Amino acid sequence: MKLLLVGEIRDGRVTAESAELFGFAARLGVEASMVLVGDAGDLPVFDGRLYRGDAGHEFDMTYNKHIVLAAVEREQPDAVVFLHSSFGWELAPRVAFAMQSAQLSGVVGLDDGGYVVESCNGKMRRTVRPLTGRAVLTIQPGAFAASPMAGTPEVVAIDAEPDAAVEFLGCIQPERGVDLSRTSVIVSAGRGVGSADRVELARALADALGGEVGASRPVVDAGWLERARQVGSSGQNVSPALYVACGISGAIQHLAGMKGSGFVIAVNTDRDAPIASVADVLVVADVAEFLPALTAAIQART
Ligand SMILES: Cc1cc2nc3c(=O)[nH]c(=O)nc-3n(C[C@H](O)[C@H](O)[C@H](O)COP(=O)(O)OP(=O)(O)OC[C@H]3O[C@@H](n4cnc5c(N)ncnc54)[C@H](O)[C@@H]3O)c2cc1C
Repeated sequence: MKLLLVGEIRDGRVTAESAELFGFAARLGVEASMVLVGDAGDLPVFDGRLYRGDAGHEFDMTYNKHIVLAAVEREQPDAVVFLHSSFGWELAPRVAFAMQSAQLSGVVGLDDGGYVVESCNGKMRRTVRPLTGRAVLTIQPGAFAASPMAGTPEVVAIDAEPDAAVEFLGCIQPERGVDLSRTSVIVSAGRGVGSADRVELARALADALGGEVGASRPVVDAGWLERARQVGSSGQNVSPALYVACGISGAIQHLAGMKGSGFVIAVNTDRDAPIASVADVLVVADVAEFLPALTAAIQART
């Protein structure tokens, strides 16, 4: 089996998540080449072919499609693999349509020759297999750990006519408030805290520990905390010494952002919540009862 991986360059760098594409190939134990459009200071380290498209067209989906299809033509891969990112969502269906192949979106695992994909916004998982000879896949960031790579790729420049149907005028950078990536203690509030008022219980614990408050996406979507505090695949990647997850189920998109944490404490009323699989300590309790008690105990000692 042979894979063509579609990496991403943002702000002059190959994104950290692009390395997870190699992790996916390593889990399958197969050879892989990569396509990249744009200029990057450091190119990925691997032993294979690296197809390069020109800078300036990173957001031109028609151009990207032509570059990927040209690499498919030369490489003849069994599967073209994208990240399940906004870039992958846009480009993968175009490539799958052009190749007349199956598309499997949001792969989170491998199971006996099939691919495990999420459905119902991460609440369910299905195992599926493409019935076409070739397939287009998107893999969920955080699902496949980046593996150590060695070697120097053979760089192959590909040219394509930029014939975009849409003109890229610019993008708005996400608001940068607190930088959670440098914080050593994070207490994150999830939907299980129940209300904006109860987010203050997480903030009080974070203050007592000298840390910052973080959030899962539903908490941000509800407007209980600002977006800059969201942890996860569409939020910040954090690696504190201590991460306290309060009323957070442990969806893969959340785990993707906090998997580098040193010690994880989870507070959840459900002992079977997926967060238990990554927690060093699982406290089966109601956040409304446990957080004030823990905060008071810490304050009493300081
Ligand atoms: C493309 C995409 C990107 C995403 N990006 C992100 C992201 O960056 N970050 C992110 O977090 N999510 C992200 N999500 C959403 C993700 O799939 C989950 O829906 C989300 O993480 C769930 O948040 P939660 O754990 O707070 O809520 P839920 O899944 O609803 O879990 C709530 C938890 O609280 C527990 N609970 C309930 N009441 C109490 C109580 N009183 N005390 C203690 N525990 C209690 C429950 O048992 C449950 O485990 C993304 C989804 C998609 C599709």
